[in-house]
Amino acid sequence: MSEPESTPGSTSDPAKNTATSPEQARRRQRLNWITAVVGLVAVVVLFWLGGRGAPTSTELDYSTFMQRVEAGQVDKVTIDPDGRVVGTQTDGSAFTSQIPTAAPPEDLVRTLGEHDVTIAAKGPSAAWTSLLLTFAPVVLLLGFFLWMSRRASGAGGSALGGFGRAKAKVVDSEKPQTTFADVAGYEGAKAELLEVVDYLRRPERYHKAGAVGPGGVLMVGPPGTGKTLIARAVAGEAGVPFYSVSGSSFVELFVGVGAARVRDLFAQARQRSPSIIFIDEIDAIGQRRGGRAMMSNDEREQTLDQLLAEMDGFDPATGVVVLAATNRPDVLDAALLRPGRFDRQVVIPLPNQAERLSILQVHCRSKQLADDVELPKVARSTPGFSGADLANLANEAAIVAVRDDRWVLTAGDFDAARDRIILGRREKGTVLLADERRLVAAHEAGHALVAALCPRADPVEKVSILPSGQALGVTHQLPVDERHLYTKSWFDDFLTVRLAGRAAEQLLFGEGSSGAADDLSQATSVATRMVTDFGLAPELGPVSYAESSRAYADGVAVRPLLSEGTQEKVEQLVAQFLRVAEQRATELLTDHRPALEALIDQLIDREVIDGAEVYALLGNSPDGSGGAATGQG
Ligand code: ADP
Ligand code: MG
Ligand code: ZN
Repeated sequence: MSEPESTPGSTSDPAKNTATSPEQARRRQRLNWITAVVGLVAVVVLFWLGGRGAPTSTELDYSTFMQRVEAGQVDKVTIDPDGRVVGTQTDGSAFTSQIPTAAPPEDLVRTLGEHDVTIAAKGPSAAWTSLLLTFAPVVLLLGFFLWMSRRASGAGGSALGGFGRAKAKVVDSEKPQTTFADVAGYEGAKAELLEVVDYLRRPERYHKAGAVGPGGVLMVGPPGTGKTLIARAVAGEAGVPFYSVSGSSFVELFVGVGAARVRDLFAQARQRSPSIIFIDEIDAIGQRRGGRAMMSNDEREQTLDQLLAEMDGFDPATGVVVLAATNRPDVLDAALLRPGRFDRQVVIPLPNQAERLSILQVHCRSKQLADDVELPKVARSTPGFSGADLANLANEAAIVAVRDDRWVLTAGDFDAARDRIILGRREKGTVLLADERRLVAAHEAGHALVAALCPRADPVEKVSILPSGQALGVTHQLPVDERHLYTKSWFDDFLTVRLAGRAAEQLLFGEGSSGAADDLSQATSVATRMVTDFGLAPELGPVSYAESSRAYADGVAVRPLLSEGTQEKVEQLVAQFLRVAEQRATELLTDHRPALEALIDQLIDREVIDGAEVYALLGNSPDGSGGAATGQG
């Protein structure tokens, strides 16, 4: 680990040099204060020095001193090696004198002895003191300048201050008390992480069997879904130390320091293994190299490289597990996801209705609810809410009640709180209005029903109107087995399913919406390939107009130039494929309109519907043959 003093100066931020930040003002204040103390000490020292000749004791010359001795007026003397005499007279008054050391009187001691004077001598310590006193101001000054110069180089870019603060913030170590009981729902994710817990509890069992423990687990999910909470719960369940850092806090660090921090972090964690390292917002450091990033690329890459090196250098026996969280797995550098690094992913989606209910229950534990509060109803009315939103909802409801001078929360409090949060959330675009939900439900129901009805489409696994990523809803189809060859009728079914979302919107509301954009572009590109690549349009014959496989150096494939006539024909044929598919989807949906409407109602009510229920509504069963995995918005 690099010491603070080795890094400042070179990294000072010019922007901070000119402006006087509160931090700097505080520092300057402290400087003044220290100057005052140093001054005070100097004054005291000087006074003490002067105090040796203080007026309370009289200075006698040597002859007078000897006269008094002979007169028996001296009681006691202390003589230091320089011949300095400090003594008391018999009347108790103090005096000082100086023995002429150049010609020391031989009989001094005898004379003193004869007159009953107690003699004491000062050892060389006196010399040391005087030496110190001589050099003290120089040492003080030197120290002061040294300190000032260090201060100045640090103060320039607040490097020293920033560094110190960052150090405290970057790595937090603790033993969390959180357990899985504090995490409502997410049984699947918990089950997956239970293996990690088991490993951390008894790593030696794994080593004995020659098994390599889980190295890195990446938790992927939207903000506020409890990723941090779950990571802490894993540490809590396993009873191991929890080292947490946030990727974004690395962004504030200086060149070379991020990498040093990572090294430090892993060293600490290894020392106290078994332990957990949690890297929150890993996308801040783990972004694909070469992309646009918040940090300077050099620094970020150094940090990332260090992280990769640390994870590779894992001795399997260390018993350190790295958990990381992100809501943008797509921007992560592929190197992070390679085996031995974050090769396990646990998806933490937005909670479904049942999970929302249990999250609400967790957060209402310490609150008193009136009889009219039905948490299941609250859960039903908060689709798209994350765990954090729900925690916030419970808290807001309590705040509304407090404002009303109540401590028992009513249904009205929850409604008011929900409305406020929805207003806030809508700005971020994940919560749907009621009519939007109806539209999304119709769209997805269309996909799902048609997929269930088309014999060659992949069986429907799940339909959901929970927003996920960019998609507002999703219909999952699971392939029966992996296909390598696709027939014309498979493509026809594929296009029909793709266009069914839009067909359902048009059938029920008389107009389409922007929600079908993705479907259309996918369907169009497949239909285009059917015509130009696969020769599946008889009107063109067995001719390929496929993109040239011979790619240019920049990786752009080229399409052969088509004659105007052929180009027009291709476009017509593509459009025709799509129109036929849409027609077929509309017919299928019209024929099964009752099932369509029932499915829409169920989706609006429950948000997520199992594929089996779709088939139950239609009274048929999934017997589709395989195909590539598909999911559609
Ligand atoms: P993330 O790290 O995914 O952004 P957090 O772990 O910070 O989310 O979650 C924020 C808060 O939301 C938690 O502190 C907790 O109060 C609440 N929360 C989220 N998910 C759950 C859950 N499944 N059960 C209970 N509380 C939750
Ligand atoms: Mg978090
Ligand atoms: Zn769609």
